[in-house]
Amino acid sequence: MNATVDFGVERVTPAEKTRRVRGVFDAVAHRYDCLNDIISLGSHRLLKRAAVEMARLRPGKDVLDLAGGTGDMAALAARQVAPRSPSGAPAAGADGKAGRVVLADINRSMLTAGRDRLANRGCVRVDFAQGDAAALPFQDNVFHALLVAFGVRNFTNKAAAFAEMCRVLRPGGVAVVLEFSTVENPLLARGFDAFKSTWPALGRAVAGDGAPYRYLVESIREHPAQEALREMMEEAGFVDVEYHNFFAGVAAIHRGFK
Ligand code: SAM
Repeated sequence: MNATVDFGVERVTPAEKTRRVRGVFDAVAHRYDCLNDIISLGSHRLLKRAAVEMARLRPGKDVLDLAGGTGDMAALAARQVAPRSPSGAPAAGADGKAGRVVLADINRSMLTAGRDRLANRGCVRVDFAQGDAAALPFQDNVFHALLVAFGVRNFTNKAAAFAEMCRVLRPGGVAVVLEFSTVENPLLARGFDAFKSTWPALGRAVAGDGAPYRYLVESIREHPAQEALREMMEEAGFVDVEYHNFFAGVAAIHRGFK
C-alpha cells in the first residue's frame, strides 16, 4: 500500500497532496497578499523582516527564496544583496559582483503573481524558477543563503526538501525557515485557535472561497512543533540549528548552517 501524508487533517497519497496544494494556491494567488495582511493583522511583514535579518545577508550574496510565492522575501533579500548605489546600479559585494535572488515555487499562478508584483516594484535582481522543493532545479553548492517563509508546511516530502535545501547551499551557507509553529501556553493556544477559526469565513468573504483557509488552519495543526522541525533540519545535514519563537510560538524561525 502507498504511504500517506497529511493534507490538513486528512491522510492522502503524496501525489494527491501535491495536487491539492497546487489547487489551494491556484485558488488564492490573486488575493494572496491582501488576505495575508488581513488574517495576520499585518504581522507577517514583521516576521519576514525578522527572518531575513537572521540570514545576515550582505551585498554580493546569492540567495534562494524557496516557495517564494508572491515575492515578499525575495524583495527584502534583493534589497540587502544588491542594494541600489547612488547611481541607481546595484552595489557589488567584496568580489565585485552584485548579489542575486532566485525565487523558486512549484505553483505557476503564485510565480506569475510574484513576477508581476516584483516587476511593479522595480526589483531587477530577482530570477524565477518553477520547481518542487523536493527536487530543486539547481546544482550543488550554489547559494550563500536560503529563505523559506510559510512554505515547509505545504511540502509533500519535508525530509527530501530539507535534504535538497542543504544540497544547493554552499558549505557554510545559512538556511532560514519561517513557519507557523506550536503555542505551548494552553490559554494562548485556545486564543490562537479561536482567532484561526475566523480565517475560512474571511477567505470566503475576500477571495470567494473558504476551503484554502480551512486547509491553512488544519495544516498549522499538523505541522511539526519547534523541536521536531529542528531535528528534521539536523537529520538533513544542517548544523548549529536554533529557533526563535514569535508571538508565544504562533510562528517560529529556525536557522541552520551547512
Ligand atoms: N513565501 C511566500 C510568503 O511567505 O508570502 C509564499 C508562502 S505560501 C503560504 C506557500 C508557497 O509554497 C506557495 O506559493 C506554494 O505554491 C509553495 N509550495 C507549496 N508546495 C511547494 C513545493 N513542494 N515546492 C515549492 N513550493 C511549494
